[in-house]
Amino acid sequence: MNGEHKITSRHRARTALVYLRQSTLMQVREHTESTLRQYALADTAIAMGWAPRDVEVIDRDLGLSGTSAAHRAGFRELMSRVCLGEIGAVLGLEISRLARSNADLARLAEMARLTGTLLIDSDGVYDLADFNDWLVLGLKSTMSQAELHIMAGRLQAAKRAAAERGELRAPLPVGLVYDDDGMVVLDPDAEVQAAVADIFACFAAAGSAYGVVAAFAGRKFPQRAYGGVWAGQLRWAPLTHHRVLQVLKNPAYAGAYVHGRHVTRKTVDADGNVRTVTAEVPRAQWAVVIKDHHPGYLTWEEYLAIEARLAANHTGGGGRPAREGTALCQGIIICGGCGGPMAANYHGDDRASYECHSHRDGKKTPGCRSITAHVVDDAVAAVLLTALTPEQLALALAAADEVAGQHQRASRAAELAVERARYEADRAERAFGQVEPENRLVARTLEARWEAKLAALADADQALQAAQNALPPLPDRASLAKLAADLPALWHAPTTTARDRKRLLRTLIADVTLLPEPDRGKARIGIRWHTGAADQIVIDRPGPTGIPAPTPTPATQLIRELGPVTSNPELVTLLAQHGYRTGAGRPFDIKAVQWVRHAYQIPTPSPCNSGEISVADAARRLGCSPGVVYYWIENGQLAARRSPGGRLCIPWTPATEADCQARIATSGHLNPAARRTRPRQRH
Ligand SMILES: [Zn+2]
Repeated sequence: MNGEHKITSRHRARTALVYLRQSTLMQVREHTESTLRQYALADTAIAMGWAPRDVEVIDRDLGLSGTSAAHRAGFRELMSRVCLGEIGAVLGLEISRLARSNADLARLAEMARLTGTLLIDSDGVYDLADFNDWLVLGLKSTMSQAELHIMAGRLQAAKRAAAERGELRAPLPVGLVYDDDGMVVLDPDAEVQAAVADIFACFAAAGSAYGVVAAFAGRKFPQRAYGGVWAGQLRWAPLTHHRVLQVLKNPAYAGAYVHGRHVTRKTVDADGNVRTVTAEVPRAQWAVVIKDHHPGYLTWEEYLAIEARLAANHTGGGGRPAREGTALCQGIIICGGCGGPMAANYHGDDRASYECHSHRDGKKTPGCRSITAHVVDDAVAAVLLTALTPEQLALALAAADEVAGQHQRASRAAELAVERARYEADRAERAFGQVEPENRLVARTLEARWEAKLAALADADQALQAAQNALPPLPDRASLAKLAADLPALWHAPTTTARDRKRLLRTLIADVTLLPEPDRGKARIGIRWHTGAADQIVIDRPGPTGIPAPTPTPATQLIRELGPVTSNPELVTLLAQHGYRTGAGRPFDIKAVQWVRHAYQIPTPSPCNSGEISVADAARRLGCSPGVVYYWIENGQLAARRSPGGRLCIPWTPATEADCQARIATSGHLNPAARRTRPRQRH
């Protein structure tokens, strides 16, 4: 070997280390030749004069990637022993590839130089203390790095080009397989096909991945193994939420060929170890998307709909799925003032209101308001029920047919399992029949297998029976039609839950908007249907919550009649004399009377004596703002007295009015400070 003369007795007195490396388990399995050659290096060391007991092999790094030394215990051991100076030579098939990173190799070379350790590969012996050897090793290392780079680059480019043609073969999800010509086709196994199709059908019905898991309870889902001893085999396992998401998000089921759905990134964790993590890439950034590349289980549009549905279910991202609670428009009502979502808030007794919470973000607009939930709900429900025309009922019936189909599919899966078990039992029977009777050992094994298959068949039969029995009977189409025609009754039926109503509402209505309406006694509601159509309704809005009862009671009748000429304390006395009580069953107090006045807009009697007027009246007469009048009163420019109720009464004569008019005229365009003065709290 080249440079064998560099090996001295000093080297031979120390240990010769054979370092073995093979990047991946795949390489270890497939490239046995290379592994054998690496082990043969131990013989090379002995041939070079090392005693067999002084030759050690480090093979702990077989099957580990060489890109970084972090996880390679073998390489770390090698380094530490070289540092200790107990190693005479390190042998590797190709020294420059001992470590795939230049930094690792440079460290090894530096240590080897300091401790007088030789590095030996199939090309020769390197003494790092020799400048030429050091240079050659450095060059080899740089070359191998460059080679790797170019190779990786070519591979990537070739891969990318193949992917752009849709020809780069990637492992297919269960339910799709490559045929003999390399084309992607649906898995010919009808049981697998049915299971995959059912995931999509269940999602359409349940609307969530958890719903799919629930629908699959007790039923297994196929999974195709890649690599390892189980490669290509189909295994059946319980369906998990994670698997459902994988299936729902995989565009291959929509017949699309996609490259670049995932990206791997390197991160450094707290301990300084480099880790590779795989992340999902948003759909808009996928490198290659070829639609209609192969037959699928759903259309691209359906795939997008599932994607949108999943995003909507994801509450962390702002989605608002239907919840318990009676507020019908919860989750789909929008504030027309600021465009933000309105929250459904419950105030005991299941009384709810929709409230715009934009003030929390400082985005409140004058159009933002809150509204009692039932006001909106009743109006929207009425629109919904009247809008359900015969054509739409036909659609609902089609949906019912879909449910029936789903029932059929559930038992179809069990039927297919029976068919498979029967086929395997038949095959075991044939194998048993073909064996020669004299070959008792084989016959016994085959008989046992046949019996096992027969037992499996019996199990499958039983499962089918159970599946068929478990299905609740479906109402026939005629009664469904009757049910659909009687939708209002169904809607109001006590058995229909708030959640059911919400679901029904959401199947037809995309969102509801509380539009700005200048008249506070009315509410304007926009309804956007999923069809794209939009409706607008204006409804009467009852007074603020807390009003005893919307219908006039004897008590409110009394307040309405006497209110304009009777003060609040007098009204309280009168109401008590009649024995009237509020809606909540309490005796009337001043506050309760004030509520009724507010609700029915009953004016309070004027506190002013004859010859006196209120501030508002004075302002009206003078054509100025009440603030101006308050300003004059505060500054003593205008005489006024306070009534027992605290209201200001201004003695008014033609002379007073003339004075005021003159003051306005002489102050030019009025004192701006006067305009800004705000009125005091009035009662
Ligand atoms: Zn708002």
